[in-house]
Amino acid sequence: MSGIRSTGFLHLGNYFGAIRNYVRMQEEYTCYFMVADLHSLTTHPDTKELKPNVHRVLAENIACGLDPEKVALYCQSHVYETAELYLLLNMLAYKGELEKTTTFKDKVRQHPENVNAGLLTYPVLQAADILLHRASLVPVGKDQEQHLEMSRNFANRFNHRYREVFPEPFAFNFGEALIKVPSLDGTGKMSKSENQYATIFLSDSDDLIRKKIMKAKTDAGPSAPNMPMPDYIENIFLLMKLVSGADTIQKFEEDYNKAAIRYGDMKKQLAEDMIRFVAPIREKAESIRQDQAYLKRIMEMGAEKARISAAATMEKVREAIGLKYY
Ligand code: AMP
Repeated sequence: MSGIRSTGFLHLGNYFGAIRNYVRMQEEYTCYFMVADLHSLTTHPDTKELKPNVHRVLAENIACGLDPEKVALYCQSHVYETAELYLLLNMLAYKGELEKTTTFKDKVRQHPENVNAGLLTYPVLQAADILLHRASLVPVGKDQEQHLEMSRNFANRFNHRYREVFPEPFAFNFGEALIKVPSLDGTGKMSKSENQYATIFLSDSDDLIRKKIMKAKTDAGPSAPNMPMPDYIENIFLLMKLVSGADTIQKFEEDYNKAAIRYGDMKKQLAEDMIRFVAPIREKAESIRQDQAYLKRIMEMGAEKARISAAATMEKVREAIGLKYY
């Protein structure tokens, strides 16, 4: 089970941190993937762009290879049981631990004018999404590790206080470690909302991808062989490892170690490999986005599958708590 907020355009971080794993998991597991439209209201109270954003996230997920026939692909707000479980889990979440959450503190800093209770209880809503399907594997990027730990805590508290209902959910990645796709300016991670020019979106045109990559931070190059790599150069290699072939990476690593690397050439190569990766996704997503009837069908089908699983869990939850009086 996993979700992506409908707060804008999807980017390489979403793809390599999350969607790539979704696409592999759909072959092996029963999967629930959703557009976290309710979560997006915690930071985006203006809903003018909500509908196109929800459509975009769905279209981009499908364009990346997610098959709505194989998985339940749905909108969070279409499954009302989410709100019920969220309410019940709120009784097991403590103000102190919520206030200490890194993402909460970051968001308070970014939006001091809108520190709402939904933002504080964001990890509880996320736990509700996951536990609603009694999911145990949650494919997410590294930025979500702390939230997953909180989901585990809420599940364990519920199980101890009432009765064993939930398996412990864990962050999941097919590689060994969770991934953080760095931004192109050498600071932080790619993100939907911050430093747009340092993030490569799945909808970026070929030209824009070239421009963004050519502007990525580099320097005059190593002054001696086998020097340690600065972070921002390591980041360019990391991006190359995501989209380029093994020979290409080896060539530039050898050039670096011989102190003979030309960053201009490396970035040109990276840009062309990136375009080869992004362009087919962009084009496919664009044509899916135009087909509103198809998107409606997908959403209905996904919600139907998700509601069956959610209703079964909520029966167990109400019974465990004792909310059954006849
Ligand atoms: P969000 O866009 O915050 O709703 O995140 C959706 C998914 O993408 C989550 O699983 C995140 O962990 C993942 N994600 C977002 N940004 C990155 C990034 N820069 N690197 C790796 N994963 C990311």
